Amino acid sequence: MSSSGPTNSPKTSKGNDDQANSLQFFPGVGPMRAPLLEKLGITKPSDLLFYFPRSYQDVAQLCTAQQLESDVRATVIGVVEAIDLRTFEDGRTMLGVLLDVSGGFVRMVWFNQAFRRHQIARGMRIAATGTPKSTGVSWEMRHPEIQILGQDQDMQPGKPLPIYGLTEGMQQRHLQKIIGTAIERLAPDLEEALSEEVRAKYSLMDIATAIKQIHEPDSLEHAHQARRRFIFQELLVFQLALAMRRYQAEHSRPAPKLESTAQIHARIVRRFPFELTPDQVRVIREVSDDMNRELPMNRLLQGDVGSGKTVVAVYAMLLAVAHRHQAVFMVPTEVLARQHASRMAESLKSSQVHVELLTGSMGQRERNELLERIALGTVDIVIGTTALLNEKVEFDKLGIIVIDEQHRFGVQQRATLRTSRTQPHYLVLSATPIPRTLAMTAFGDLDVSTIKDKPLGRAVVHTYVGRSDQMASWWSFVVKQVKQGRQAYIIAPRVAQDEEDNTASVEQSFEELGKGPLSELKLGLLHGRMDGPTKQSILDAFTNGQIEVLVATTVVEVGIDIANATVMTILDANRMGLAQLHQLRGRISRGTHPGYLCLFTSEGTIPEENSRIAALASTDDGFALAELDLRMRGPGQLLGTQQHGLPPFRIADLSRDADIVVEARDEARKIVSEDPLLAGPQWQRLKRQVQGRHGDMIALGDVG
Ligand code: ADP
Ligand code: MG
Repeated sequence: MSSSGPTNSPKTSKGNDDQANSLQFFPGVGPMRAPLLEKLGITKPSDLLFYFPRSYQDVAQLCTAQQLESDVRATVIGVVEAIDLRTFEDGRTMLGVLLDVSGGFVRMVWFNQAFRRHQIARGMRIAATGTPKSTGVSWEMRHPEIQILGQDQDMQPGKPLPIYGLTEGMQQRHLQKIIGTAIERLAPDLEEALSEEVRAKYSLMDIATAIKQIHEPDSLEHAHQARRRFIFQELLVFQLALAMRRYQAEHSRPAPKLESTAQIHARIVRRFPFELTPDQVRVIREVSDDMNRELPMNRLLQGDVGSGKTVVAVYAMLLAVAHRHQAVFMVPTEVLARQHASRMAESLKSSQVHVELLTGSMGQRERNELLERIALGTVDIVIGTTALLNEKVEFDKLGIIVIDEQHRFGVQQRATLRTSRTQPHYLVLSATPIPRTLAMTAFGDLDVSTIKDKPLGRAVVHTYVGRSDQMASWWSFVVKQVKQGRQAYIIAPRVAQDEEDNTASVEQSFEELGKGPLSELKLGLLHGRMDGPTKQSILDAFTNGQIEVLVATTVVEVGIDIANATVMTILDANRMGLAQLHQLRGRISRGTHPGYLCLFTSEGTIPEENSRIAALASTDDGFALAELDLRMRGPGQLLGTQQHGLPPFRIADLSRDADIVVEARDEARKIVSEDPLLAGPQWQRLKRQVQGRHGDMIALGDVG
């Protein structure tokens, strides 16, 4: 694909005049600069328009030396008088550049940016923006933003200067000039993809104005508005693809209509040993409304750890079973699959409902026999690991698929499910509350239900950040808690010790703690390298109290539910993600006893300096943590790098542009509800962009 911007290409590029299309012959480019521009992804003149500034130098306060004030950001223009580069013993460098500005001198200082030495020469005119400090004799600016000005180049006071990402050999002022020419020549002919109505509704600039203002803004506010238009457009195009895919999925084959009659409802709810929380009641209604239609349900259920999502899933599955349909419950780990299977079998003991567990560790014969019964329809609910997805499991009458604890399940994977022969209802439970923006993008074609309240009587968890010198007293606290009848987890990142580094391992912790501070207690060891039956017997022993302290890797991260375990120690917590830590903490808020979590960080680190750990200690609200996590790590990381299926956005930033995501999604859904295939003439330009960027997501060719 070409690298033109997130948007339109000018009509002129349709002409086949080579000269006009050649970057090299574009004014100001030439044979020397063309290859440099190519390195920046600019291969034809129109690409110049969509090579957006990285940032702007705000030159609002243009000052003389006398006008400068300590700690007040300002811009000065001056001529380079002297340059000195010093290298310290430890290899660090300090570059000082003395500027002769009107009325005095300003010394600019950079640490460890020796490369700048080659960009600056005596006699150059430079505009520098930064925060001045008085040194007594002159002014100093540390790490200012600078612009090298041509002799003929005037600063437009009050106008922000664009700062572009550069490559070696290319200078800001040259790129600014070339792009300026491109705007003059090409911007008037740009194709407008957004209708006047949409632009008016969301107060968006037209394309020509936006291009001009993003590169040469009248003010930072104008630059911001221009950016907003391109962000909106990029997100709208993506949301249109999602909305169209959803439409196609819904209308390919009907789903079974499974009504929750009063009688069925009463029969299901009777199975639960507790009162449903108000949120559970509400979400169950949302789910059963969905399932009572011939359109397949596409719903994401999110709720904090321990909020009781499983109940909703079980309800939905039993609703399908009540209508003689089958249900699949997919979970990420075998341990969790077993836990769900035994709980469900327990609560359905006296019923006709037939639940089976399908796992990877089953024998071939046993497995084949089970697959046969599933195909025949004598199994009502199949519980298994997500690996099931890749299997050719045939169902007699599949009514619903539930995916548990699966936030690493983005847009692309859903496509594979869609191609299966059945068209069941579909419910995803998310392990981690997903920030709204991500829910609307990675899961953009799903409806979202949220459980906010927790079952009554849930105890709080106290979270502590431990220093290494506090470890001994923490272990005696653990011993005391266990003597009082509680149980404990100890979590470490590794299974075995590695010679390379000394990250905590469960094997070593199990050894050392068992001989040392926890020698009075019964310890068990659990990690992912154990086989299924071994893991199961360890968990069983922990469940029935034979094991008092479980030393485990993060295999216990998701879903494990043992109410009496209320004390948790996490070693090398700085090596874990925020979502993961929050999930782990969720393991000890299951019962009525208060939970105690202590986080220790790797040797030589200062726990308070770890932003994730500080965040975790500051709040117990999974939604707030998810938002923080998104801001700290970005969407790709948050969803799992490869699996999220999100396209790389060029200008939109999901952690920043939440409001625009919402607008774009609403608009896309509205457009698609009125014209599902974007057949109307007014949509053709947008449709072309949808096809160009997201054609792989939607089989437009099949239906359009
Ligand atoms: P999660 O949302 O983390 O998957 P679960 O569905 O596993 O949470 O529920 C956590 C625990 O709370 C389970 O032991 C479950 O039986 C219990 N639970 C769920 N709903 C209620 C309720 N309404 N009242 C009391 N306990 C409940
Ligand atoms: Mg769960």
